[in-house]
Amino acid sequence: MNYKIFLEKGKCSHCKNVVVIKRSYSGETLCSECFEKNIEKNIYKTISKYKMLHPHDKIIVALSGGKDSISLLYNLIKIQERTYNPEPIIALMVDEGIKGYRKNSIEKAKDFCKIYDIEHKIISFKEKIGYKLDEIISIKKKSIDYRYACNYCATFRRRLLNDSAKDLGGTVLALGHNLTDVAETFLMNILYKRFHIIANQYLFKEQNSRIENYFIRKITPLMRIPEDEIFLYANIKKFDYYPSHCPYREKDPIIRKRVLDFIQKCKQYSPEIEFNLFNGFLELSKSLYYQNEKKNYNSCQLCGYPCGNTKICTYCNYLKDFT
Ligand code: SF4
Ligand SMILES: [Zn+2]
Ligand SMILES: [Zn+2]
Repeated sequence: MNYKIFLEKGKCSHCKNVVVIKRSYSGETLCSECFEKNIEKNIYKTISKYKMLHPHDKIIVALSGGKDSISLLYNLIKIQERTYNPEPIIALMVDEGIKGYRKNSIEKAKDFCKIYDIEHKIISFKEKIGYKLDEIISIKKKSIDYRYACNYCATFRRRLLNDSAKDLGGTVLALGHNLTDVAETFLMNILYKRFHIIANQYLFKEQNSRIENYFIRKITPLMRIPEDEIFLYANIKKFDYYPSHCPYREKDPIIRKRVLDFIQKCKQYSPEIEFNLFNGFLELSKSLYYQNEKKNYNSCQLCGYPCGNTKICTYCNYLKDFT
């Protein structure tokens, strides 16, 4: 795809140059230079408003080779350059083992890290779990309780990213989730009544040493930028990212994709809808967090990780056919 599809008529609201985007949710028009600055300022402000980084944090960036994680890594490198004596960033990538997909994005990620002299670590499902995602899916598909590929993939990837980031000495794991992802996840969690997850995602959670033993702190500095704007930004910056979507997202008719389509349709009539969902998420996660604060949670009987009110965590539950 080409960012020229965003070319608009008219003048930039800030400098009168030629416009590349008109934001239908605000009416603002921006030229490429002002747009680029605006996105970078948004990321910087999100980090400071939500106190995402502390001095001497060791940042691990979850890199997929796509537009979001490459834009995130680039901005964190720039932000760190302004910081006194920063710990070097490490880019961490998970190779799930998806034929015809992940190999290409690994190459893009490798090249990007080389240009910016960033250490690039790759971990794989095969090495950590013993099976590639393609193998996991062909085994799981035979069982009557088969869940969509993304459920297995995301659960395993989250755990491996978390554990590897901790092993690398990270104090914070930066994820490339954008506003569209946050809106989609929030709506999914509402639809499935997963209030404990929404509570757990409260951005100003108090530090808890028991949780910290298991989970690294996660940050999402792109969470206030819609996906199509990250796309435009990555193209204006001429980042060499891997544009293709994972084949499972197309093959498996997962509800998540339908939810995303629904949000996109709503956006045509109500352009601010993703921001409304985001603000709803902030408010609800806060009140649910304080409401649930005193509740106890179990430890998984197999791995010991905190796991809500079940006896075995989802990770171990999915893993049990493979051990
Ligand atoms: S789309 Fe689904 S299967 Fe593909 S990488 Fe993402 S979570 Fe994994
Ligand atoms: Zn301008
Ligand atoms: Zn477990």
